[in-house]
Amino acid sequence: MISQKSFQNQKPTLFLVPTPIGNLNDMTPRALQILEDVDIIYAEDTRVTKNLLSHFNIQKEIRSYHLFNENIVANEIIKILENQKNVAIVSDAGLPLISDPGYLVCKLAIANGFNVVSLPGANAALTALVASGISPERFYFYGFLNHKKSQKKKELKALVDFKDTLIFYEAPHRIKETLLIMYEVFGDRDVVIARELTKMYEEYIRGTLKAVINYDFQEKGEFVIIVGGAKISSEVARLNSLSIDEHYNYYLNIGYNTKDAMKQVASDRNISKSEVYKELINKK
Ligand code: SAM
Repeated sequence: MISQKSFQNQKPTLFLVPTPIGNLNDMTPRALQILEDVDIIYAEDTRVTKNLLSHFNIQKEIRSYHLFNENIVANEIIKILENQKNVAIVSDAGLPLISDPGYLVCKLAIANGFNVVSLPGANAALTALVASGISPERFYFYGFLNHKKSQKKKELKALVDFKDTLIFYEAPHRIKETLLIMYEVFGDRDVVIARELTKMYEEYIRGTLKAVINYDFQEKGEFVIIVGGAKISSEVARLNSLSIDEHYNYYLNIGYNTKDAMKQVASDRNISKSEVYKELINKK
C-alpha cells in the first residue's frame, strides 16, 4: 500500500499534463504553470510540443518520449526524479497515457516512491461522449481497434453483449470500413461520429450505424466513434428469432420448470406471461 499526499511532501513529482486536442484555448492556466515550473518536459513529438510552448512563450528543455523508446526513457526519467528534479510528460494532444505513451514511466515512478500528479484537461473520448446524446451513465473506452480487418472483427465480436456505451478512436482512412464491420457485428445500433472536436470543422453525426454509413461525410480529420451498448444479449436476440414454442422448449431443455420457462420467455420478448401461455395453448 502506498499513500501519496501530493502537495504535502517534498518528493520530486512526475506531472502528467494534458494539451489541447485542436483548440489552443483549451490549454489550462495550471498546465501552463506546471510546464513553466518543471525542470524537464518529455514529449511524444518534440516539434509539436515546441510549437505549443512557443505559442505560450515558454522556454524549456524538451526531450523525446514515445512508444519506441519508452523503456529506456522511463528509466532515464526515474534518474532525473532521483536527482530531486520535477518532470512533465505531454503527448501531442489530450491526456498522456490515453492511447498515448506514459503508462510505463507512471508505473515506475509510483514503484520508486515519487509523486505522480495528473492534471485535468482536454481528452477526445470524454468530450465526444458527453455531447453524443448516447448514455454516458456507464461507458467502456476501447481506444483504437486493431488495424487488420479480421482482427478488428474479432475484437468487436468480443464486445457484442456489452451493455455499456462503447468509445473508439479511429483514423480517417479506416472510418468507413470500421463502421461497416460494426454494422455487421452489432446490427443497426445508435452511433455518433465526433469529427474534428474543438476545431473549426467540428461535426457530430448522430444516427444509427446504417444511416451514418449511408451519409456522405468527409473522411478527413480526427474521429471518435461512440456506439450504444447492447440492448439485449446476442443469445436473447437469437432466442427471440425462434417461435415462442421453440423458445419455451429451449428453456425446458436446459432445466427450467414450466413456470420459470414461461416467465423467462415473456421477459426475453418483453411480452406478458399470458401472451406466452396463449401461444403455447394454440400450438397444442
Ligand atoms: N491522448 C488523446 C486523448 O486524450 O484524447 C488521444 C490520442 S490518440 C493517439 C489520437 C486519436 O484521438 C485520434 O486518432 C482520434 O481518434 C482522437 N482525437 C484526438 N483529437 C481529436 C479531435 N480533435 N477530434 C476527434 N477525435 C480526436
